[in-house]
Amino acid sequence: MGQNILIEISARHIHLSKEHLEILFGEGYELTVKKMLSQPGQFACEERVSVIGPKGKFSMSVLGPVRERTQVEISLTDARTIGVSAPIRESGDVEGSGSCVLEGPRGTVILKEGVIAAKRHIHTTPEDAKRLGVTDRETVAFEVNINDRSLIFKDMVVRVSEHYSTAAHIDTDEANAVAMSGTVYGTIVKLRGNGLADSGLTDSDLADSSIA
Ligand SMILES: [Zn+2]
Repeated sequence: MGQNILIEISARHIHLSKEHLEILFGEGYELTVKKMLSQPGQFACEERVSVIGPKGKFSMSVLGPVRERTQVEISLTDARTIGVSAPIRESGDVEGSGSCVLEGPRGTVILKEGVIAAKRHIHTTPEDAKRLGVTDRETVAFEVNINDRSLIFKDMVVRVSEHYSTAAHIDTDEANAVAMSGTVYGTIVKLRGNGLADSGLTDSDLADSSIA
């Protein structure tokens, strides 16, 4: 099925700025690649950081490479567990987002903003975007049919770049909402104005059926 899109779950993780990496791990420190991720150039690191809120803390994997700004990505369940706020944002949009304390082996950072719950999204290439009939920044609905917990996720942002590989990213709360396990695919669905999935019927078909 050419229209199927692989779903990947983003577990809680942190991206570090170079400045914060050096405060947490020491001057001149470089991240150690543990595993390359599906998005080209992105990798999970050996390094871990404690993310601390007023009610608890998590030890989190660092994802590389270093970024312009530090960003903690957690689920809303995680946010509640450690007592921090995590507004739903697209990656990189951290202005005025949640705060926490970061603790590494060599130092501590008070992060004033940077904690977010990542807005669910689909990475895709220009070639696949054409095939899927979507454009960059478009918001689509995404249907997952599995495990007696089938669901249509609305508000799914499409991001198109030749540097991506095509995959849908949801967080652990969203994955649990569809009881995800193993390799799962979803499809983009077009919704009618009334929010219902397009059945292929026209408005006049629906008008006819409501009379009958
Ligand atoms: Zn992503």
